[in-house]
Amino acid sequence: MDLLNTLVDKGLRRELPTREEALAVLATSDDDLLDVVAAAGKVRRHWFGRRVKLNYLVNLKSGLCPEDCSYCSQRLGSDTGILKYTWLKPEQASQAAAAGLAGGAKRVCLVASGRGPTDRDVDRVAGTIKAIKEQNEGVEVCACLGLLSDGQAERLREAGADAYNHNLNTSESTYGEITTTHTYADRVDTVTKAHAAGLSACSGLIAGMGETDEDLVDVVFSLRELDPDSVPVNFLIPVEGTPLAKEWNLTPQRCLRILAMVRFVCPDVEVRIAGGREVHLRTMQPLALNLANSIFLGDYLTTEGQAGKADLEMIADAGFEVEGADQVTLPEHRATAGGGCGSHAESGCGSHEDAGCGSHAGGGVCGTAAAATATATEARTDLVAVRRRGAGTDLAPNA
Ligand code: SF4
Repeated sequence: MDLLNTLVDKGLRRELPTREEALAVLATSDDDLLDVVAAAGKVRRHWFGRRVKLNYLVNLKSGLCPEDCSYCSQRLGSDTGILKYTWLKPEQASQAAAAGLAGGAKRVCLVASGRGPTDRDVDRVAGTIKAIKEQNEGVEVCACLGLLSDGQAERLREAGADAYNHNLNTSESTYGEITTTHTYADRVDTVTKAHAAGLSACSGLIAGMGETDEDLVDVVFSLRELDPDSVPVNFLIPVEGTPLAKEWNLTPQRCLRILAMVRFVCPDVEVRIAGGREVHLRTMQPLALNLANSIFLGDYLTTEGQAGKADLEMIADAGFEVEGADQVTLPEHRATAGGGCGSHAESGCGSHEDAGCGSHAGGGVCGTAAAATATATEARTDLVAVRRRGAGTDLAPNA
């Protein structure tokens, strides 16, 4: 297909595809899907080989958020039955992180619900970063604490954070349909602050909230312009009790097309499959490793993932290898560009997604925009389990 040959050539040159080309990827038929995966896979392997970076989420503070993000199980007044707890102590967070690192993760993502941290919260997280770094040599730490005020990104950088996650989530034009308590511009501002402070920026999206193909292309093109080192791609987990609980819009094929489009638009960036991997890709997860070079290990913020051992087996069976702590994630031109992590790439959260973080997400939205999206799929509520283990509980974490 000419389209795919063009996109591979552009991806290898880091050249931005046209919007029409990106839209055409999302519009490909199921008959062409394996060709799409193979083409985007060439770009993935060119920049990242067959390595898969593992990231581990530690939910430092769960629920009780005053914001109203419609996709999020932690939002104001939600009735989702999730774990609710206030800040973990540094030693509790460090213990949770250690489980993920022992399971093969090289990055720990420290996430807290809320609009954004107070300066006291930043000090608290600084203590946690210190504890984790002291006990785990070489670990990468990403913070995901919501909107940042002036000076907070610098403080986190000084404390040893490598990266900061904050997701754009969806297009600027539909953002107001998802959240009313903060704006798209607020989110862009926080990613910019993180970048400016020398932190490796991580910013991504949530698919499946009823958005159109144009919305998806808009947000991915906006991300390319912001130039984060990593882009987490969340697939909405429609958690019961959130406004988006009925938004079951994704099929495994649709998820693969979305990941391929993101890879073509952001060819040399760490593309991470974040929340919703097990729920929406299901048995197609191994195929998605040809597109993304990074995943979360184990559980998510408020919902459970598959067993960490199953993640490792899937990677090996699909012919990929877990990226070691001594391996550099990003291609050389990016790793040496001074984005904070230096050698480390990036990981993703930033919406408090129930997938990653960064948008603290987990739900989905955009009522009116749904029309052009793929065929609605069966609601797989049987695959959604509220997290009852790990951080904030007495039970061992999944890693
Ligand atoms: S995404 Fe983050 S800011 Fe929004 S409701 Fe959830 S925890 Fe709060």
